[in-house]
Amino acid sequence: MNDLVPLSVLQQKIPLGEVVDLVSFVEVCKSFSDLYRVGVKVFDAHGKRLVDIKAGSEDFCGYVFQFQTGKERCTATVGRVKDQPIPGKDVERIQCFTGARYLVLPIVYEMDYLGRAVLGPFVPDDLADLPPSLTDIGPPAGNGSGNGASNGFDPTVARALMERFRRAPESTIHKILLHFGTILNVMIFSSYRVFLTGQLHLESVKESNRVLEDKNRELQANFDRLKELDTLKSNFLATVSHELRTPLTSIMGYTDMLLEGLAGPVKDEQQQFLKTIMEKSEALLGMITDMLDLTRAEASRVTLKREMTDPAKILHDTFTTVAPLARKKNIEIRERVLGSLPKLSLDRVKVQQSVMNLAVNAIKFTREGGHIVLEGQLVELGDGRFGGDSWLELAVSDDGIGIPNMQIERIFDTFYQVDGSSTREFGGVGLGLALVKSYVEAHGGQVKVHTVEGKGSRFSLLFPTA
Ligand code: ADP
Repeated sequence: MNDLVPLSVLQQKIPLGEVVDLVSFVEVCKSFSDLYRVGVKVFDAHGKRLVDIKAGSEDFCGYVFQFQTGKERCTATVGRVKDQPIPGKDVERIQCFTGARYLVLPIVYEMDYLGRAVLGPFVPDDLADLPPSLTDIGPPAGNGSGNGASNGFDPTVARALMERFRRAPESTIHKILLHFGTILNVMIFSSYRVFLTGQLHLESVKESNRVLEDKNRELQANFDRLKELDTLKSNFLATVSHELRTPLTSIMGYTDMLLEGLAGPVKDEQQQFLKTIMEKSEALLGMITDMLDLTRAEASRVTLKREMTDPAKILHDTFTTVAPLARKKNIEIRERVLGSLPKLSLDRVKVQQSVMNLAVNAIKFTREGGHIVLEGQLVELGDGRFGGDSWLELAVSDDGIGIPNMQIERIFDTFYQVDGSSTREFGGVGLGLALVKSYVEAHGGQVKVHTVEGKGSRFSLLFPTA
């Protein structure tokens, strides 16, 4: 988990300039300034100037700025307009040394100071004449040039230039500023809402992403651990099944010798017992062999011993091997080969074992009186219009118990059985299909199953012919 959770936009102070659309904001301020013939300035909370619209004061200020003292006092006024603390929410007056004036209104959102709106400079109508703080600004700055600055401060010039910007009672500008404040509030607050909504949406997407990444990391760690456990399990199974085979072979060898009468004559009943021992041992050996084969298959170590193989013969051999088993359960079993099947380069033993597994399963999961068909044919897969590839299909169908839809994928997992109790009823440990799948896929083939619960199943093994 990342401990450094970034500050939410709700906890941050967002600069005003990032919230509003500056271009349209400036446009509105400009129309306002044109309408009321007064300069408009807007600063953010850090004193950054966002809007500066002059309304006739440029020449006057430019003239005054050419005088050294004028320049210094001008700069001080600008500094106060921009930064002077405004104690309350009310309009604040800032008096310029020239006699002109500014009115400043704080912009506040949810108790946060966002910046200030300024109207001015304007000439208050109670200003009778130029104040001494302006007339004493003395000699021009540097060499002084233009506008008569080189001749020293000229009140007549200053008065004429001052006439160009608005003269009004302070109360009028005060009202205009409050009106301007209302417009700003609407603009800023609706922008804030849009901005916050957008940012919050972004934050929630980022948060979901963070949660997903954490979950992914957890999943990956679990997956790695499971893989490790799976490898341990496979190694364990490989060792155990190998170790089990040795004593079992001895048991079978000695049983065989007893059956042969090598240790003296065996009575009928004893012979029956020995045959049972032999049968069960063979079944056990089959399971152990499956387990060993599977651990090899899981480690992708299926090595095929290919040879030219007659698929029809595989079907027939399977048929003759399982027919007695089927008969015992009163199940009718048939073989059907459609057309002639070509000989293919296959691992005969593994394909035989695969078909055999399917046939034994079909017998296991079909009730007495049921039907089983072993089929062989060539089929075309893919889009018939363009001619698909030709595959050899070896299939086993039954009208047995079928498999519930939800379980179809899982029956190919090792040790998976649809009904765990089937082990007791039908035998087996859930390895057969996993082996079949790995053998068929090692040939570049695929296993398909079509099944309807309660009606029956058709397992088909498809091998490429080319
Ligand atoms: P096992 O037969 O040893 O249990 P398999 O891997 O061969 O193991 O089969 C896995 C499971 O798939 C079986 O336990 C059974 O639930 C289901 N199954 C396989 N073949 C059939 C079939 N022909 N009809 C119904 N269920 C089947």
